[in-house]
Amino acid sequence: MAGTPDDLRSANVIFDRWKNDGLTVFKPSYNVLLSYPNNETVNRVIVRNGATILVETEGKEKIYDPQLPPTVNPFLAYTPNGTFTSSNLYYANYGRLEDFENLIAKVSLTALQNSTVICRYGKIFRGDKVMHAQQFGAKAAILYNDPQDYAPFGTTQDVTYNNTWFLPDSGAQRGSSYTSNGDPLTPIYPSKDYMFHLNEDIDTLPKIPAQPISYTEARDIMQYMTGEDVPDEWKGAMTVPYKYGGPLNNSNTITVTSYNKREPRDTYNVIGIMEGEIEPGFKPRRSLMFCSWGAEEYGLIGSVEWVQEYVKVLSARIVSYLNLDVAVEGNWTVDVKSSPLLYNVIVDAAKTVPSAYDGSKTVHDKWMEVHNNEPKIEYGLGSGSDFLAFDQLAGSSNFDTSYGFDPKSHGNLGSYPLYHTSYEVFSMVEKFVDPEFKAHQTMGQFTGALALRLSESALIPFSVEHYTKALNIALADLEKEKPLNTNLTSLKISIDEYGAAAVDFVEKAKDIDKNNPYAIRVYNDQLLQLERAFINPHGLASDTPDFKHIIYAPSKGNQYAASGFPSITGAFATGDSEEIKKQISIATYFIKGATSVLKQPF
Ligand code: GLU
Repeated sequence: MAGTPDDLRSANVIFDRWKNDGLTVFKPSYNVLLSYPNNETVNRVIVRNGATILVETEGKEKIYDPQLPPTVNPFLAYTPNGTFTSSNLYYANYGRLEDFENLIAKVSLTALQNSTVICRYGKIFRGDKVMHAQQFGAKAAILYNDPQDYAPFGTTQDVTYNNTWFLPDSGAQRGSSYTSNGDPLTPIYPSKDYMFHLNEDIDTLPKIPAQPISYTEARDIMQYMTGEDVPDEWKGAMTVPYKYGGPLNNSNTITVTSYNKREPRDTYNVIGIMEGEIEPGFKPRRSLMFCSWGAEEYGLIGSVEWVQEYVKVLSARIVSYLNLDVAVEGNWTVDVKSSPLLYNVIVDAAKTVPSAYDGSKTVHDKWMEVHNNEPKIEYGLGSGSDFLAFDQLAGSSNFDTSYGFDPKSHGNLGSYPLYHTSYEVFSMVEKFVDPEFKAHQTMGQFTGALALRLSESALIPFSVEHYTKALNIALADLEKEKPLNTNLTSLKISIDEYGAAAVDFVEKAKDIDKNNPYAIRVYNDQLLQLERAFINPHGLASDTPDFKHIIYAPSKGNQYAASGFPSITGAFATGDSEEIKKQISIATYFIKGATSVLKQPF
């Protein structure tokens, strides 16, 4: 856990390991604002009738294996300490913006003022749920994992952990509720001693107490709810009537009490560089850096601070950043999110790596089999892991991968079911996910194969023509979403120009003299500048100065997802036709910039 002695200990283990492997190793640390529950006095949600307690949540998960080291109690990092009692409780489904809009259409916006809202986990980043509850006037929020999304085959002990990988009755997901990234007190800039620090009263930190609870507890609480029944899509799988809510019945009250504390602490990154003849015979053409990040869970803090500190040199030099976070969620097939520029090299690498538990099939064969003969690559990374700062600040062409599970045969789970619970332990992986650790091996080989291609090829193996395809996909999405009378012609023309320049560029590249280092350098310099051309140094919007990539950025209302042409879709949401025109012209400008990078200078 970031900021604890274990954080330093694990950084030291990685440091020593990489040093032994022959890398040049650094351990840059940052003092940043983190958040902790009070493990002695647990956070609680209590339903009372007068002085009688009807429901009191445990604040802890059951322990199935006393051999395991203790975990931190479920909490939502950065939600403030405090207590709030209300006689009104509302249910907002997954807590998406559209869920809250539907809820207030039913119960009115005023009804939500000073209420408590309960949402189920799934679909979007948990921090956005808490922030939406706050924006709509709630003064406390409760999150829980509905069995429909986390235990779809029943909730009894025989079909949940520790007999299966599904969520047991006392499981609760912890995690951050911070909706920006990096140290909350030093936005844009690294948290160094010399740097100006804000105080904690900032909009990106939640102001209402909030707490995650188990589905058994949610069921016990929701039985006291009143109001109209919700539609089927809002119903989960608990044995309780799902209602929109209102005053609790019998004049009951609900209290959310939290003892969380925010504290500045040190967190540690480890950076190892392979520069020269590390192993006999092997010397990469381009340097390989290995990075292990501190405080990812709190808001990608270690990686954001480090990229903020070195943004100048990183934006001048990095070819690509490859991210492994939850490397193995399942053992079905490999999921990839990346810049369109990496398409061909990813497909190439996938053809060389065995798929786990699949005989002689490669990762690529498996994709073909399960995804209608298409490699499974999603363009744009969004947020939710440490690639964010590389994407939005450094402007490199990046990649994120995970070994996924088949959502269909697992009852359409919200995520792998034990995510961020106490049961996410080595034996869970060994028993239920990757018994022979073959999926882990595949991820190592796949990422390694990609890193080798990117570092070894004389000509940087980017697929410039694939960006044309990706731009057209993003444009087609805009066409579907655009308000009436929106004119996307200039944007379309700029994409066509990019497409023509890309075809030309690829054609000319065929004649490059591979023995001429200057010719190679000119070509590579153009490729290095291509993704950077999409970076708007002014930021996409005033409230997101650190989101700068004009083609892909995290979605508003769900940090986990990427949105295509984010500043244009942001303008669509305002309905302001002048703002829409402005954002279309700005995106057009940046695409023209990318096109000029591909052409001969003047
Ligand atoms: N990966 C962490 C989570 O899902 C952090 C996400 C973020 O702050 O963007 O909770």
